[in-house]
Amino acid sequence: MPAQVYLDYQSSKPVDPRVVDAMRPWFTERFGNPSSLHLDGDEATETLEQSRKKVAQFIGANSDEVIFTSGATESNNLAMIGYVSRNRNRGDHIVIAENEHISVHNIAKAIEKQGFKVSKVGVDQYGRVNIEELRKKIVDTTILVSIGWANSEIGNVQPMQEIADVLHGRGIAFHSDAVAAEGLLPIDMRKIPIDLLTLSSNDIYGPKGIGALYIRKNINIAPIMPGSGQERGLRSGSENMPAIVGMAAAADIMTSEMPSEVLRLAHYRDRLIDGVLNRISKSHLNGHPRERLPNNAHFRFDAIEGESLLLLLKEKGIAASTGSACSSRTLEPSHTLISSGLLHEEAHGSLEFTFGRWSSPADVDYVLRVLPGIIESLRSISPQSRRP
Ligand code: PMP
Repeated sequence: MPAQVYLDYQSSKPVDPRVVDAMRPWFTERFGNPSSLHLDGDEATETLEQSRKKVAQFIGANSDEVIFTSGATESNNLAMIGYVSRNRNRGDHIVIAENEHISVHNIAKAIEKQGFKVSKVGVDQYGRVNIEELRKKIVDTTILVSIGWANSEIGNVQPMQEIADVLHGRGIAFHSDAVAAEGLLPIDMRKIPIDLLTLSSNDIYGPKGIGALYIRKNINIAPIMPGSGQERGLRSGSENMPAIVGMAAAADIMTSEMPSEVLRLAHYRDRLIDGVLNRISKSHLNGHPRERLPNNAHFRFDAIEGESLLLLLKEKGIAASTGSACSSRTLEPSHTLISSGLLHEEAHGSLEFTFGRWSSPADVDYVLRVLPGIIESLRSISPQSRRP
């Protein structure tokens, strides 16, 4: 048995050792604050701006369109609350998708408490936004639409250009949480008219606790945290230089390695999907068969409890997931799966594998060797499988 077959890259990724090397001096030798006027401060300012440039290049943006934050949750808050606060004179309605990340749902709730109206657009069986419904949900008072680029759970990719086409020319800002997509799908802000884009560092093998928000020129948002005015006054607080340097190094590595890495991961994904669907009866793929993240394989097994499956996989040294790590400790079925039309018991029988930079063909072989037996033994004791 291998020490640990880690196939839960969606929940958390190791920091690339090259990133750790880039960060190390910023804890001890180079500890300047970019706001200081001495040489250490100058060095920090220069590195801050170089870092911003690397993150901007990673998404085809200009440096002055990128703000560093403490991570994806904060970027989503700054984008959505910051935008509606600054633009409330133009309207009081926002739209999100039913299967958004839990942070976006909760931010929408907070916005609703401030007196805004929130509409949720449904998704199809693959988790993709229903474009006709989106068209109908938009009204004269709509000022913001927030739809994630891809779903971190079932791995479907949203029709981003089609969504942008619906919003085009209507003065509605388009925010996208791109955390699930970054490092796996090409993102080029010169090609897609998204106004606000959420990025996280850990999802590209950088440290946690750091992220960025892309803000297109001419899009005005208000800060959500008053303070001393760093990051163009939009995100106050002394810059977290080691983490910023880490995110920039991770973005730089990803810019050059992503094309080959993605092909490799897609190969593992396809081998796992084919292997599971062929070897295990009554197994199904969740999410879209083609429009899906290259590292994501998300299954549903009839008459199986996902949590029991996870525990048996854990005994065999395999780390997988039943869904978003952010809500995995609740017993509620995943809202992503329910919004795609699955019944509660179907959602509970789901299992997600996500590949990453250190995955290998041996990981796929091992899962295919042990998973069929685990499913068979669980089914043999499942009351569901004995139902007529
Ligand atoms: N958005 C998405 C799509 C996520 O998967 C996550 C969690 N990785 C978040 C936002 C929140 O990220 P963080 O916990 O780093 O703020």
